[in-house]
Amino acid sequence: MNRWLFQGVEGEHDLTDALRCEGAAQAANREPQSSDADTLHEECGVMAIHGHPDAAREAYLGLYALQHRGQESAGIATADGQRLANIKGMGLVSEIFTEDVLAKLPGTMAIGHTRYSTTGDSALLNAQPIRVDSTKGLIAIAHNGNLVNLGNLRTRLERAGAYFQTTSDSEIIVQLIAHSKAGSLVDAIADSLSQVDGAFSIVMMTRDRIFAARDPRGFRPLSMGRIKNPGAPDTILFASETCAFDLLRAEYVRDVQPGELVMVSEDGVTSRQYASGVQQASCIFEHVYFARPDSRIFGRWVQESRDRMGRQLARESGVPADVVVPVPDSGVTAALGYAEEAGIPFRLGLIRNHYVGRTFIEPEQRVRDFGVRLKLNPVHNLLEGKRVVLIDDSIIRGTTSRKIVRMVRGAGAKEVHLRISCPPTVSPCFYGVDTPSKRDLIAANQSIEEIRRFIEADSLAYLSLEGLLASCDGGDGHQANRYCVACYTGNYPTQWIDVDEILPAGAAI
Ligand code: SF4
Repeated sequence: MNRWLFQGVEGEHDLTDALRCEGAAQAANREPQSSDADTLHEECGVMAIHGHPDAAREAYLGLYALQHRGQESAGIATADGQRLANIKGMGLVSEIFTEDVLAKLPGTMAIGHTRYSTTGDSALLNAQPIRVDSTKGLIAIAHNGNLVNLGNLRTRLERAGAYFQTTSDSEIIVQLIAHSKAGSLVDAIADSLSQVDGAFSIVMMTRDRIFAARDPRGFRPLSMGRIKNPGAPDTILFASETCAFDLLRAEYVRDVQPGELVMVSEDGVTSRQYASGVQQASCIFEHVYFARPDSRIFGRWVQESRDRMGRQLARESGVPADVVVPVPDSGVTAALGYAEEAGIPFRLGLIRNHYVGRTFIEPEQRVRDFGVRLKLNPVHNLLEGKRVVLIDDSIIRGTTSRKIVRMVRGAGAKEVHLRISCPPTVSPCFYGVDTPSKRDLIAANQSIEEIRRFIEADSLAYLSLEGLLASCDGGDGHQANRYCVACYTGNYPTQWIDVDEILPAGAAI
């Protein structure tokens, strides 16, 4: 059962209460599993469709493919030229959008959103799309990323009379649009986007237009696709990742560029560069962990980047071993690259239970303590008596890594060598990735040897920063990207950061 919020078709009664179901509070208040607490989470995936007779269903399918980017809430807003409807709920896309619910979303345009957020901030009210009735008309917005100059803007807007419906930073953008002195809507959007700082890949919808934009540094991915309709205008789509296009049989057209605002209307696609001269800082961790390997983001295939990370890791810190075992799922592609480069057999020595996920609600504390064992199980006959190279994509607090190392050793492995396909995570993210503060990041407070001892591995090595950058650059005939690597260096590409979050363990202000 899920919790619903229906923002209504204009002119109709708001059905919020009528659509509330039991079990909602449980879904809204659930805490992440103990194994999840030591994993990094992306906060969102976004989707937009223009010019499709069943836009809501297309958005649903796109969000289904983007479910890995957020499992806590999802929403779809549609427009038919006159009205703008919006339904969102707590839970997975497939749980929220049944046939009955999709039938309440008419129109040829849609935007959609799937969200992960931390517990205190997980209210249904903050689920997206957010619909705001502004001086510029009805606007729905869905946003991936985090703004960093939030406090200032919010105070200024409230002084100017803005009334906020949510605590979500996405609403700031809509309020800025509403308060902009620019004459046209597109000018107002460009004006508001140039005032916010941080990470945003956004899709917006009015009654008759779709807008898509990325922040000037291009932190989060956003791609444009197309479905050709014989004898009719093309359907235009936007998605956080191109894997969403595959499910819709759409072709990838191009990435929305950093600092670009694209508008799609009945008259076609137009674009403007609302910001320029800012150095690109695309999130390299999208290539390491978040994005699906079958997606192409920042102009290159994630699969290729991860394969190269694994190969580079083998070159930098190879160790004599009998098998290479990935921590599924995100460690699989890098482990394949490592195994091939090192000439060591690749084995699926850990099996992931895909049905646990974040929707699992622990009935009691005793079950919670199972932690990693609920998600992963060792294949004893592949590990027994073997020297194992274990490939994973990050160590956050170290507690999950220790459980996995113990699990592999408990299954009979003779040696366990942990290799991480990126550098040590030493600083938190302020751009849409839910990282703990510096005092809780093990690599920010301990040496690699201390971490090795803590996780009880025979050896531990991380990919170098140079190795990571080389793995994610070039290829595909694509020009070199410039990446944000702040969680590995502590050098942030924006001016605004939360100082309290970057204090090391033991420090206080
Ligand atoms: S700090 Fe790390 S996770 Fe955050 S945007 Fe930069 S590279 Fe990505």
